[in-house]
Amino acid sequence: MTPLEFDARHLWHPYTNIMDPGPVHLIAQSEGVWLTRDDGVRMIDAMSSWWCVIHGHRHPAIADAMKAQLSQMPHTMFGGLTHEPAIELGRRLIELLPKELNRIFFSDSGSVSVEVALKMAVQYQMARGNSQRTEFATVRGGYHGDTWKAMSVCDPVNGMHGFFRGVLSIQHFVPRPPIAFDQDWTDDTRLNGLGALEALLESKGDRIAAIILEPVVQGAGGMFFYHPAWLRGARDLCNAHGILLILDEIATGFGRTGELFAMDHAGIAPDIVCLGKALTGGHITMAATVTSEPVALGIGQSKAGVMMHGPTYMANPLACAAAIASLDQLKQRSWRKDVSNIANQMDQELAPARELPGVANTRILGAIGVIEMEKRVDPAIAHRFAPETGVWLRPHARNIYCMPPYIISPEELSCVTAAMVSLAKEI
Ligand SMILES: *Cc1c(COP(=O)(O)O)cnc(C)c1O
Repeated sequence: MTPLEFDARHLWHPYTNIMDPGPVHLIAQSEGVWLTRDDGVRMIDAMSSWWCVIHGHRHPAIADAMKAQLSQMPHTMFGGLTHEPAIELGRRLIELLPKELNRIFFSDSGSVSVEVALKMAVQYQMARGNSQRTEFATVRGGYHGDTWKAMSVCDPVNGMHGFFRGVLSIQHFVPRPPIAFDQDWTDDTRLNGLGALEALLESKGDRIAAIILEPVVQGAGGMFFYHPAWLRGARDLCNAHGILLILDEIATGFGRTGELFAMDHAGIAPDIVCLGKALTGGHITMAATVTSEPVALGIGQSKAGVMMHGPTYMANPLACAAAIASLDQLKQRSWRKDVSNIANQMDQELAPARELPGVANTRILGAIGVIEMEKRVDPAIAHRFAPETGVWLRPHARNIYCMPPYIISPEELSCVTAAMVSLAKEI
């Protein structure tokens, strides 16, 4: 059996049918923006390997920090023990986040950090004597991960609700914010979408522990960019109803949208934030759930007292070392300039696609570029194209999109946008 035959027969890939898994490329090496197949074919990783690899693959400074940590202490339990990498990473994150957020829970993946956030909210509400507040509210079109509770707050139509009917707990959904990032805002709550949220909280708010949202960018749920004023409105409504606000910055954190965090577009702070994906610059898995002192102290004063979670690989030192080195890069490089240059170039190079038949829309926010088609795009076509164009794209639903590493050169980015446009023509 060749390696690819073994893979097809025995290994599951994300959201694939084991009977008919579809094609995969066998990747042997990665460096900077480049992925190299075992047969030597090279492709630009225009997906940053799902939002993660912001400084490029196998970044020397991050790899060196990991090697140094590896030779000292790759792992130790976090129960009863601590270590410098966790402490240092904690200091850095608190420095970067809004000042309200200063109590950190490290975990090993984005979905787990969402589970922790939801659990924090319920434990906090219990501690305040609100044990009836066990439910969550969110907007349609969201994505928060694949574990059970995270899945229950993903979009109920495109997510997995239909499939897992009766198994997922029921949550509350309001329409996704209707006004796009670049459209004019209106304070009329019937038009700006906040009226629906207000109505929900007025009728069922006393059962709701928290609202969970992806700030400004809905990623896996459709690459939709909504108006930051909606977030400010949601923050006010949460305050008025004693409901916590959880922001899922797993995809958007660390500069991707042109601000360090997407919530910075709105100038608000949540009660709980989830971080993941680009936290380690895409070198190893790690996530964090960060909350405020009042929430943390509330949980501490509850009957249980303890936060009821403790992953085996919590605050893994190797991952902490990678994250510290990645945050160093963010500080040393002018990421804001890199991201705005990428945005400007994509704006110019993707705009012509708007005239193509079958294209519904193009949009750009920070280092995220989208060509939205009128119909669903078959990822297999993009897959076949990649070795030819030298650009790795993985369209989702109706969107051909990219979120390249910030270190991509203008020439390389032109290859990416050209590949996106030619894919849009092909379909
Ligand atoms: C990817 C993602 C998650 C899930 O993270 P995993 O590390 O895949 O578990 C949650 N929320 C958002 C917004 C994401 O983009």
